[in-house]
Amino acid sequence: MPDSFAPVLTVDLGAILANYRLLCTQVRPGLCGVAMKADAYAVGAAMVAPHLKRAGCNHFFVATVDEGLALRQVLPQFDGGARIYLLNGLPPGAERDIAGGDLIPILNSMAEIERWQAFVRAAGSRPAGLQFDTGLNRLGLGRDDSLRLIGDPHLLNGLDIAVVMSHLACADDPEHPANRLQLDRFREIADNLKAPSLVTGGRTRPLLSLAASSSIFLGADYHFDLVRPGAALYGINPVLGAPNPLQPVVRLQAKILQLREVDLNMTVGYGASHQVRGPTVLATIGVGYADGIFRSLGSRGAVYVAGQRAPIVGRISMDLITVDVGHLPASVCQPGMSVDFIGPDQSIDDLARDAGTIGYELLTHLGTRFQRRYVGAGA
Ligand SMILES: *Cc1c(COP(=O)(O)O)cnc(C)c1O
Repeated sequence: MPDSFAPVLTVDLGAILANYRLLCTQVRPGLCGVAMKADAYAVGAAMVAPHLKRAGCNHFFVATVDEGLALRQVLPQFDGGARIYLLNGLPPGAERDIAGGDLIPILNSMAEIERWQAFVRAAGSRPAGLQFDTGLNRLGLGRDDSLRLIGDPHLLNGLDIAVVMSHLACADDPEHPANRLQLDRFREIADNLKAPSLVTGGRTRPLLSLAASSSIFLGADYHFDLVRPGAALYGINPVLGAPNPLQPVVRLQAKILQLREVDLNMTVGYGASHQVRGPTVLATIGVGYADGIFRSLGSRGAVYVAGQRAPIVGRISMDLITVDVGHLPASVCQPGMSVDFIGPDQSIDDLARDAGTIGYELLTHLGTRFQRRYVGAGA
């Protein structure tokens, strides 16, 4: 029997495809790949990837080898050559698994370059990517390494470089001077690096890739050959403070388990942190921080009941949340009825802001207890 009290996460595959097409239009004639790490931002990589492949996407970015191997199961090699790139690089000892899954490691250091060269010398040529750190100071070949590789192209001997990439630090702030600076550094590398490439479909140079979701909206200078958006695909607003050009993808609903009348001098929840100021009705909702509804939402933020706001009162528990519904008609507030955490009245970015975080963190933390429902795109 399905658990009718279980919270429900609805994923609109049609909206993901519409977002994909919009991003493709933005970057044309460049190619649009997608970021699928963390199980497609917890939306479900196995469900989403085949639809994107059918919509024409051939470039998939994940973080780890395990993610890449899992994605390869749903994007078979013989099926038109979907490329799967491993952003987190080449773990020592993983070469064989990577080759077996036809995955493309993004090499982030001289040591990784040398290890992959040794592997392909023995096992035969296979594509890899190179990531250059142009100012994020997180992952990739640093300035000294990039100068060495430009100065001595033989250091790349034996490699088949499918993609040369970098990643921006401040792309969600279009005015930030770091954007232009990183763009200039990336261009300098792209113009001067002599990277051998066989796999780029008739080209003699690798695909260049700089932009994720927000950087796509910085303009055509940032698009190069291939972009790799994640957040925007899943409906997170890539341009903070401006209207979201993408369609919402997830709806998050949970059920009212019980109603409780409370009055003056009562408190609500753990720590007795919420003091009741007069007669009202509370609804207890069957979802909590174990599901990814951050504890920082205690007595902050709200849910929506039939389109009307109901503030969260008291602390968030592991499996339960209490909201004040005293101002709402009883007809929309009964045990078993649904309330919206993310939906038509409250975006994922709205809820994340109230939790003191960003849509990315909220989305990737949505837990395993939701019933996941896929709609749209013939799901
Ligand atoms: C996560 C990630 C992306 C996708 O970023 P979004 O902001 O979600 O579009 C692209 N490139 C790299 C290197 C990443 O780590």
